[in-house]
Amino acid sequence: MLPEVGSLWLLRLLRDIQLAQFYRPILEELNVTRPEHFDFVRPEDLDGIGMGRPAQRRLAEALKKHRSGLKSKNWVYKILGGFAPEQKETTPAPNSPLSLPEPEGGLKCLIPDGAVCRGELLGSGCFGVVHRGLWTLPGGQSVPVAVKSLRVGPEGPVGTELGDFLREVSIMMNLEHPHVLRLHGLVLGQPLQMVMELAPLGSLHARLTARAPTPPLPVALLCLFLRQLAGAMAYLEARGLVHRDLATRNLLLASPRTIKVADFGLVRPLGGARGRYVMGGPRPIPYAWCAPESLRQGAFSSASDVWMFGVTLWEMFSGGEEPWAGVPPYLILQWLEQDQARLPRPPLCSRALYALALRCWAPHPADRPSFSYLEELLQEAWPPEGHCVRDVTEPGALRMQTGDPITIIEGSPDSAAWKGQNGRTFKVGSFPASAVTLADAGGSPATRPVHRVSPAQGERHQGSVDGDRGKAKLRDLPPARGQRRNVPLQRMKGGAERAWSHPPGVPGSTEGHWGRRGFCHPEPQGGPALPSE
Ligand code: AMP
Repeated sequence: MLPEVGSLWLLRLLRDIQLAQFYRPILEELNVTRPEHFDFVRPEDLDGIGMGRPAQRRLAEALKKHRSGLKSKNWVYKILGGFAPEQKETTPAPNSPLSLPEPEGGLKCLIPDGAVCRGELLGSGCFGVVHRGLWTLPGGQSVPVAVKSLRVGPEGPVGTELGDFLREVSIMMNLEHPHVLRLHGLVLGQPLQMVMELAPLGSLHARLTARAPTPPLPVALLCLFLRQLAGAMAYLEARGLVHRDLATRNLLLASPRTIKVADFGLVRPLGGARGRYVMGGPRPIPYAWCAPESLRQGAFSSASDVWMFGVTLWEMFSGGEEPWAGVPPYLILQWLEQDQARLPRPPLCSRALYALALRCWAPHPADRPSFSYLEELLQEAWPPEGHCVRDVTEPGALRMQTGDPITIIEGSPDSAAWKGQNGRTFKVGSFPASAVTLADAGGSPATRPVHRVSPAQGERHQGSVDGDRGKAKLRDLPPARGQRRNVPLQRMKGGAERAWSHPPGVPGSTEGHWGRRGFCHPEPQGGPALPSE
């Protein structure tokens, strides 16, 4: 729990000179809330609250130092005060770190500058760099952490970046969920540092795209990650928060089987009765992950997060491919809206799961499932597990040995051949249904239906929300990353090739409109205009 942010400076100052016990009397009896209020405090007043003269001298000295350093540090307190949600005051126990708001348990605190040492660089984000670190607690124990430091230019921190950084802190310090990255505390130094739970295995995107000999992630594990993600997002949804940057790059692996939602820099509280957040300015947005209403009007809501969940699902089952790779932003919106095109079903993704993704991509936000409903839908689309009851060596069939764990991707009681993944080899393919026993089928060969979406329904939607036009749309879909684009150029407005190689504001760039991590500014050329933030 944060002491009132406006009086944080006082608490820090008193703690530094071992006079924290006078925090409340100074605040409440002498009414000092700002450093200049001490100008009106007389020694007798301090005598009156029981502060001895040597302590008063220490205080005067510390105040002098504080005031001289205030000019350079003032922005931290001011801005954090501006972003912090409702705060109540507490008096910290002597010798404990100052606590940040702690609504649902867990330690959140202001961490002294010297208590964290930074090590290896883990990555860099929009407004800073992230290092592995070691946080030494007051009791002497060391905790491995990740430390995100605010990037500081020669003139000090850049306004927007500082704002986003502090907004991220103020949002994160109120979150507590097993699949949401935890903020341990904040170092009010220069640079400002966020001390977070370490996700030692890095981002899910990096794991998905890791090359051999790293084995691919099994389908069953991807489904588990989806369930964890839906749970975390249902939690944010219930708290009226919209993430706005849901993607595998922002899911971190805390352990081989645990993901955590991270990067709360774009998170916003949903305002108003419509439960939407409308961007107030031209800022980069992760275009290929965004719902049409976000691209067109800058409107974000839990329903647009659900859209992004669908894209994240697609990324997971595509081995970390970039959605709409190589397609200029304005074309994405056109394809989504006018042509009703959708990302195609990845081979590893069952029809049932793809049908769920298509529900996330419903054109109208109100038609998309909520995250809590998605949790139920995921349960229904869960791929059954079984194990192999005889060696399969037939040519063309998925090779398996007796006892191999098998995840069923497609299968129905009336088909003799099923599709699945061998949990031992990670290979995917078709195999005789009779070779596998389902885990919950009491030991007899599998005969129950294993997907709840009819094959016809799944296929009909592939690549399009418009079943009849699905096949035509598939031809228009972007190629995999690294391949030459094969999009119908006659359909591109305003010379897409030109726009591709020379995006506005990036003369001569060959990277199209895409910035780092698939972010780009809204397309000015025949594309949607977003209001200013
Ligand atoms: P961000 O600024 O949050 O986008 O983080 C930039 C990069 O740093 C991420 O893509 C991760 O690779 C890495 N990173 C961020 N936070 C953590 C963490 N808590 N544990 C491990 N790596 C992290």
